[in-house]
Amino acid sequence: MRRPLIAGNWKMFKTASEARVLMSELLSGLTAIEGVDIVICPPFTSILPIAAIVEGTRISIGAQNMHWEESGAFTGEVSPTMLAEYCKYVIIGHSERRLYFGETDQNVNLKVKSAMNHGLTPILCVGESLSENESGITQEVVTRQLTAGLEGIDSASIPSVIIAYEPVWAIGTGRAATTEDANHVIAKIIRNLLSQSYGENLAQEVRILYGGSVKASNAGDYFKQSDIDGALVGGASLKPVEFVPIVKAAAG
Ligand code: PEP
Repeated sequence: MRRPLIAGNWKMFKTASEARVLMSELLSGLTAIEGVDIVICPPFTSILPIAAIVEGTRISIGAQNMHWEESGAFTGEVSPTMLAEYCKYVIIGHSERRLYFGETDQNVNLKVKSAMNHGLTPILCVGESLSENESGITQEVVTRQLTAGLEGIDSASIPSVIIAYEPVWAIGTGRAATTEDANHVIAKIIRNLLSQSYGENLAQEVRILYGGSVKASNAGDYFKQSDIDGALVGGASLKPVEFVPIVKAAAG
C-alpha cells in the first residue's frame, strides 16, 4: 500500500508575515488528519518561519526548486545543503520552471540526483503542454521527461522518488484532467515505464501524484483511482477551505 501524499505549492505568493498567518490557519485544520503525508512548499523566504510553525507536527516542508551544486558562485541560487536544514522535499522540474526559466531535462536530472544525494525527496514533475496533448504525443513527452529525469537513479533509490503528473494545460486553468485520463497516464505510461526500468515490484512502490486544478470538489475522485497516490496542489493550497478538505479526502 502506498501512503498518500498531498503537497501544497505556494508558488511566488505570500510574504513571510502573510505566510505565517496562512500556515497558522492551515495548521488548525491539518494537525488532526492522519494517514497522509502533508508537504507545504512555501517560497524560499518563508521556509524558515513556516518550519518553525510546523515543528513537532506531522507536516513537512518542501522547496519549490534548488540548484544541483552544493555551493559556489551561482548568484541567486539556493543549494541542496541549505535546503536540507529545513526541508524534507523539493519540487523539481515544475512546468513553470521549464517554461519560464529554461530548465532542461538534463538540469532536472542533475537536480533529482543532487536532491537524493543530500537526503531530500524529489517531487519530479512531468507533463505535456496543450499543443502536445492535442497532437497526441503525451506518451512521447512524458516518457522523454521521465527517462531523462531519472537517468542514473538506481533501484535502491527509486522508491523514494515522488513523481507528479501535471499536464501543463491543467495547471492554474481550472481545466482539470478527467480522473480517467489522469489515471491512464499515471498507470499506463508512468508506472509502466518504471516497471520496465526497475521491475513491477519497485514500480508499485513509487508514489505518483496528479497535479492540475485540484480543488476540494474534485480531489476525492482522483484519489479513488487505482494509481493516483495524492496531489500536487497549487492555487487551492493557498486557501484553507480548499486545502484542508483535499488533505482529508486523501486520508480516506
Ligand atoms: C501546480 O502549481 O503544480 C499546480 C498544480 O497548480 P494548480 O493546482 O493551481 O493547477
